[in-house]
Amino acid sequence: MIKAAAPLISQQGYYGEFGGRFIPEILYETFVALTVAYQEARCNPAFWQQYVATLANYSCRPTPLTYAEGLTRHFGGARIYIKREDLNHTGSHKLNNVLGQTLLAQRMGKRRIIAETGAGQHGVATATMAAKLGLECRIYMGAEDVERQYPNVFWMRQLGAEVIPVTSGTQTLKDAMNEALRDWSANMTTTHYLIGTACGPHPFPEMVAWFQSIIGQEARSQILTQTQQLPRAVYACVGGGSNAVGLFSGFLDDTAVELVGVEAGGQGIHTTHHAARLASNAASTGIAQGYKTQFLQTSDGQMQDTHSVAAGLDYVGISPILAHLTQIGRMRVAFALDTEVLAALRLTLQTEGLIPALESAHGFVQAFKEAPNYTAQDCIIINQSGRGDKDIFTIAEALQEPEWQRFLQQRAVQS
Ligand SMILES: *Cc1c(COP(=O)(O)O)cnc(C)c1O
Repeated sequence: MIKAAAPLISQQGYYGEFGGRFIPEILYETFVALTVAYQEARCNPAFWQQYVATLANYSCRPTPLTYAEGLTRHFGGARIYIKREDLNHTGSHKLNNVLGQTLLAQRMGKRRIIAETGAGQHGVATATMAAKLGLECRIYMGAEDVERQYPNVFWMRQLGAEVIPVTSGTQTLKDAMNEALRDWSANMTTTHYLIGTACGPHPFPEMVAWFQSIIGQEARSQILTQTQQLPRAVYACVGGGSNAVGLFSGFLDDTAVELVGVEAGGQGIHTTHHAARLASNAASTGIAQGYKTQFLQTSDGQMQDTHSVAAGLDYVGISPILAHLTQIGRMRVAFALDTEVLAALRLTLQTEGLIPALESAHGFVQAFKEAPNYTAQDCIIINQSGRGDKDIFTIAEALQEPEWQRFLQQRAVQS
């Protein structure tokens, strides 16, 4: 059995200068109760055992660590290993956190779950666990995103969740988050607000990191079994930061292992079309959405528009844990351009028969750039945070597949 991780415990919710809890007074008692319940669960080995056993039974854990022989041959440097979070139920690492938090909500006697979602992946994972555990579920989603991500909306509703399109502000993720917080303030006693990444007010970053630490704990034990050594570097894409912090936490104390986080470089970090909060100098420290971190914001504190070909990476904030690990030099940041991501995806498809999510492919780009710098004695790990089937529309559009254009036109004519 994979043990629970101990690291990454915050100092009263702070990681260096980042983190904290900046919330309306009305939510204070709720946050205290949640923090206490989480800390009790963390100190209770039986809770972690229940978590691991449920994942094993319902979501294909432990996920394999796959040796990528074709990619290794292609680059001729380090042996490349891929951690297969794409094999989780609902297709990404998101279920780890959702399952953990729903178990915790049950312990707290809460029968109603709410969540915000941008691209819809977190919403689908939440609706899935709510269906499985018989909990009432409501998902807040920007009206703009409801239009753009309709297949996920369809599945959330089929799973029995109520999807509320949010029409305030820019009608995207941050507006959905505000609406979810409003709901929570009105329904604190019955409801748990299930945040989807290692961001937000304390204890969310620490709690989400703890649930996702299963990725790094497994990966470390698997690479030791398979190669009798530690990797030289581990790579993960960074949206809010949950899959990265999950993988990194397994290697945090192995100071020789480089932790490399890869952000969305979009159309270039010197344009306004990217989401590189740490890898560009476009972000600055601020307090928003209940916590302190590096935000892409204007000089008067308004959130900037972000862009990435990967819908799951275009968030304006970043986990305070990663902001801190970068500041102290433990983590190295990089970025991948949209065009590089598509090239890495195509290569991975054709040499490994794997379809990484567009998000995950960001990690692949940087690993591919660095693999030739190592020797065949070395190994590296890339986190395949999710599977790319969901990205078929975006990928086909970006690659300008003529057959695909015809297919879409035909369907438009028929309907
Ligand atoms: C949501 C998502 C991400 C980004 O979220 P993190 O919290 O940064 O991990 C990355 N990959 C996939 C497949 C996702 O669904």
